[in-house]
Amino acid sequence: MSGNLADLVTYALKCCELRGADYADAKFMDTHIELISFKNESLESMNRTKKRGIGIRVLKNGSWGFASTNELTRDKVTELAESAVKIAKASSLVRKFEIELADEPIYEDTVKTPVKKDPFEVGIDEKIGVLQECTNRAKSYSESIKVATSNFIARKDHLVLHTTEGTKIDQLTIWSGGGVASTAIESGEVQTRSLPASFRGDFQTRGYEHFEELNLLEAAEKTAKESIELLTAKKMVQERSTIILGHSQLALQVHESCGHPTELDRALGYEAAYAGTSFLTPDLLNKNFKYGNELVTMVADATVPGGLGTFFYDHEGVKAQSNLLVDKGIFVGYLSSRETAKTVGLERSSGAARSMGYDKIPIIRMTNVNLKPGDWNFDELIADTKEGYFLDTNRSWSIDDIRMNFQFGSEICYRIKNGEMTEMVKNSTYTGITPEFWGSVSGICKEKEWRVFGTPNCGKGEPGQAAYVGHGIAPTRFENVRVGILN
Ligand SMILES: [Zn+2]
Repeated sequence: MSGNLADLVTYALKCCELRGADYADAKFMDTHIELISFKNESLESMNRTKKRGIGIRVLKNGSWGFASTNELTRDKVTELAESAVKIAKASSLVRKFEIELADEPIYEDTVKTPVKKDPFEVGIDEKIGVLQECTNRAKSYSESIKVATSNFIARKDHLVLHTTEGTKIDQLTIWSGGGVASTAIESGEVQTRSLPASFRGDFQTRGYEHFEELNLLEAAEKTAKESIELLTAKKMVQERSTIILGHSQLALQVHESCGHPTELDRALGYEAAYAGTSFLTPDLLNKNFKYGNELVTMVADATVPGGLGTFFYDHEGVKAQSNLLVDKGIFVGYLSSRETAKTVGLERSSGAARSMGYDKIPIIRMTNVNLKPGDWNFDELIADTKEGYFLDTNRSWSIDDIRMNFQFGSEICYRIKNGEMTEMVKNSTYTGITPEFWGSVSGICKEKEWRVFGTPNCGKGEPGQAAYVGHGIAPTRFENVRVGILN
């Protein structure tokens, strides 16, 4: 199949060159998504979508043109190339600056996510069986569990990307995962617990084996038990305190306060109208700007095994890389594309431009934005904390346009007293200012506590594209944080 497609993609590029394109890339993408969700006793949704087509991006007179179709014929592709070149020419009449691309080596490669079990080969009945058992277990735990949900999602993207520079990539990426949640309601009080993470669960660029390893049946019972306990837990009081963030909450913290602000299109103001800008402006790059303290090192790593933002090549044909964003507290890098890298004078794109379908242009997306592990055992970090809170699993979030002031709420929280986790606390929130917050880190757990969490629904772009991205983290302690606001 790839042979014929590769011919069509090559033909598309020839058409663009004949019509005077200065540069062009053509991508065929075939995207399969399977989403199954259960709510209480019922199958809430079961969607299997397949979307395939070709998208052509052309650079002419310093401006982009893009066109796409799901009709995979030479006639249609000829039309498409014409249209992409025309759009680029028209755009160049109103352009503010000339687009140039950072250099990238040429690659010819065929690559595939290593999977033990292709999630699309596993029968629907098996998946439904697991999901149904999850909600049954949660519901039967107590009559106060009014809503129990469970999810399975898998996605497969086949990309055939050729560029007029000579790059030819054939890449198949596969991911899967899921999650469970229980909501307990009594006397008007509502509490929800989700595992292994909120927003549908945890996902990895791996096969069905990842879904199996999540052990959702056990997790379902735990969500039921903890949501009931939360109903009668004490409310968090407003104070300044030490906090330790667990994996799932920290993944969101890194996503919102490091991932988004280091997207270079955002920092350059290209995304301002829709998703906001960034306090990490290019004039601060490599200027000793303190993003956090010396314990804080963050990388964008598209090569970490299993990460949901792991791939071999991005959708501009740039090879997957690991790049420092924050080095011992200092802001040193961006997530970039070939165009944005050139704009700020970087030698090379960081390989973070991806499109979520054949009909979308590649934009800058997080890969796996990871916090490097530290040197604490989790038990020792708790034992070393005289007064504080342990918070996990995001419940609510709010962060300003430049990603500076934030307030997050977590589903679960435990009070730490004299080095021990004590009672459960509900309605936990914390607030901070990004560089101050990351400047207050006083301990990060070590490698053995470090793991990659995947989120499948990071929204950006106009028209919107929901990207799948990852975060490698280990529980981390922060000092003198304002907690319990708005309770
Ligand atoms: Zn996001």
